[in-house]
Amino acid sequence: MTRKLGSETLVIATHNSGKLKEIGALLAPYGMNCISAGSLGRPEPAETGKTFIDNALIKARAAAESSGLPALSDDSGLCVDALDGRPGVYTADWAERQWFEGKAGRDWYMAMGKVEGMLAELGPEADRSCHFVCVLAIAWPDGEHAVYEGRALGTLTWPPRGTMGFGYDPVFVPLGETRTFAEHDPQEKHRISHRAQAFAMLVAEQFGVQGTR
Ligand code: IMP
Repeated sequence: MTRKLGSETLVIATHNSGKLKEIGALLAPYGMNCISAGSLGRPEPAETGKTFIDNALIKARAAAESSGLPALSDDSGLCVDALDGRPGVYTADWAERQWFEGKAGRDWYMAMGKVEGMLAELGPEADRSCHFVCVLAIAWPDGEHAVYEGRALGTLTWPPRGTMGFGYDPVFVPLGETRTFAEHDPQEKHRISHRAQAFAMLVAEQFGVQGTR
């Protein structure tokens, strides 16, 4: 039997206020009070894992151990079949660049261009299949854990299209669609995204509810 959360307070293992807000809103209908690891003053652990599950567990375990409460983390990224699953766990890193005066930041157009450039090197017949992955991990302070993985299958298009969404959304066309994720409004994307699927599994198992509210 899967372990239930057993606490109305859940630490969200993120320092990103956007993620806290999004996850908090998804779990609020189930009576969960979400607080961020950042607001508790916990340092962010290095994501040194080789898989999405490893990295999600590193974050959830660090937050659970230091807070004494169950903790939830997520780790996500884009895997391109013809690139042996890259960028994978390095999806965010591929967008890192140094701006002027040594300031670091993320450049999504550059990251999408890097993926496209590698596909172009494989020739015009290259397989453009890819998928987004989202792993949600719950860790309890005693070391027990649960993981939920959602995937959105699709293909890569070029040039980027659409202004909604974030990250690699403008080049990702979900299976059976002609529009990119960045041409879907957020509600529509949330019905089919990898994150929505992982949350649906978590909610079904933890709260016995089919589908998010
Ligand atoms: P992390 O989960 O915060 O480590 O970030 C993984 C990276 O994957 C993000 O920075 C995005 O670039 C990318 N990513 C994850 N989910 C999506 C999505 O739904 N659309 C576009 N990019 C995504």
